[in-house]
Amino acid sequence: MESNSQCKNCKNPIEETDHICSNCKYPLKGTEKEKSIFIGQQILKKDTIKTAKNYRNFSKLILIGLGVFMIMPELIKLLNGAGSVVELIIGILIGAIFIIAGFLTSQYPVGSVVTGIITIFITDIILAYVIFNSFYSGQSDPMDIIEWFVKEAFKIGLLAYALYKTVEEKKIKAEHSNLNMC
Ligand SMILES: [Zn+2]
Repeated sequence: MESNSQCKNCKNPIEETDHICSNCKYPLKGTEKEKSIFIGQQILKKDTIKTAKNYRNFSKLILIGLGVFMIMPELIKLLNGAGSVVELIIGILIGAIFIIAGFLTSQYPVGSVVTGIITIFITDIILAYVIFNSFYSGQSDPMDIIEWFVKEAFKIGLLAYALYKTVEEKKIKAEHSNLNMC
């Protein structure tokens, strides 16, 4: 015998006649086995929500981090008297796309990461053209090209991983559409 004024699982007020909790669906009149199964599923669901949130936060961090990484070096160069204002403005414009996309990951997880990938591809195509041109005219060091290539490959790799994580998050959400995922 148990007093059924409150749901054991979610503390929602309940009626003596209720068979399941109207709030969390806890089997109030179920067997001990049914109750433990419910509690087990509850723990799994909480883990699932946590995993999905971690995936989203990871993508957010990557996008904002890349955005800052695109602005800071140009700003530091300029402050040291070595950079150019045009390069800083370009850096801020591209970096801003990443930072804004980062803050929109909660609403549009996949869309934000895809925006980042498209932006990287467009800027890389332009940069590759500029860099290879200056290389063929003998103005740049092959090491600079290798360094640039490694850096860009690293950024694309990070974004590809973030995309994979957001797609995973989307799958989790679709499989548990009855859960409140905020
Ligand atoms: Zn309940």
